[in-house]
Amino acid sequence: MRRIPAVLLSLALSWVSAAQDAAPPPTVQAPTPTGTSAALPAPDAAAEKEDSRAASGPATARPILFPEELRPGDALLVRIPRSTSGSPREAVLRSPSDAVLQRSAGFLMGPDTEWEVFVFGLPMDAPPGTYAVELPGSVDGRTPSFRHTLTLRPRDFRGEDISLNADLTTLRTEPSERKDREARVYAEVLGRVDPRGVWLDGPFLRPLASERRTSHFGDRRRYLYATGGSASSVHAGIDFAAPTGTPVVAAGRGRVVLASDREVTGKTVVLEHLPGVYTIYMHLDTLSAAPGAVLERGAPLGTVGSTGLATGPHLHWELRVRGVACDPETPVFAAFQPGP
Ligand SMILES: [Zn+2]
Repeated sequence: MRRIPAVLLSLALSWVSAAQDAAPPPTVQAPTPTGTSAALPAPDAAAEKEDSRAASGPATARPILFPEELRPGDALLVRIPRSTSGSPREAVLRSPSDAVLQRSAGFLMGPDTEWEVFVFGLPMDAPPGTYAVELPGSVDGRTPSFRHTLTLRPRDFRGEDISLNADLTTLRTEPSERKDREARVYAEVLGRVDPRGVWLDGPFLRPLASERRTSHFGDRRRYLYATGGSASSVHAGIDFAAPTGTPVVAAGRGRVVLASDREVTGKTVVLEHLPGVYTIYMHLDTLSAAPGAVLERGAPLGTVGSTGLATGPHLHWELRVRGVACDPETPVFAAFQPGP
């Protein structure tokens, strides 16, 4: 099977003072890729010195990036002392070619927070190289008020072949108005970034009791059609096999923004956790989540089934960050804390 090289991001900081920001001490706990917490390194002596040199001007503070190492398909969370004006800002993620890969409007995790939060989703095909997170400057509008660079390292993805019977071949290949209509609604839901959509209050948990992964995030798939043809695709989530009727629960606190029976993904639930951050649960046998409801972490939303394009009972669990399919087990959310 061909191994697809992708990338790991490892963090290298280059910090330019944020001229208009307040300065709470950097006491935040940073999640590690293993899901445990580790204290962020204290600012080194040089940085302390730099901060004290700047003390005659407005105070400075370090932004916090989660995690310190990233791979393609990971989410990146940046927490920055909120601006003294209180108005939301926009941070950008730059690709190795310096193009703006993604923009993220800041949001607040709560009314009393000192921190503005930005979330990015790295595509699974992100090319290797140096990435940067920047917040536009507040002085001349050109010099970033901060800039962090991150280096990508390779990640391997697996390959798999999936044989489809005649019915599933038809389901996957035949165009239908219903598919088109459902695809438009789905894209609209997942593309929404609502700054009030802040629900998440803890780390994601696995949404069902199953150790059996039948497909992994980023698997390079080849569908073998009953008609003899084939097609390639990339698996955007994780599949867990489990008996029909196994309870499926919310991976984290979130609002139900879609709960419907779709032609291809079967009975499907989408939860909004943060602005532009969604988890998706597909192929359910039954739905118990009502659109608009806010589910606590671990609350039931349906049961495992094989509705839609499925070759057997399983849960397809997916994470979308600003429309980008990310690994549902990305460290940012496996160790998420709502505040420092
Ligand atoms: Zn799947």
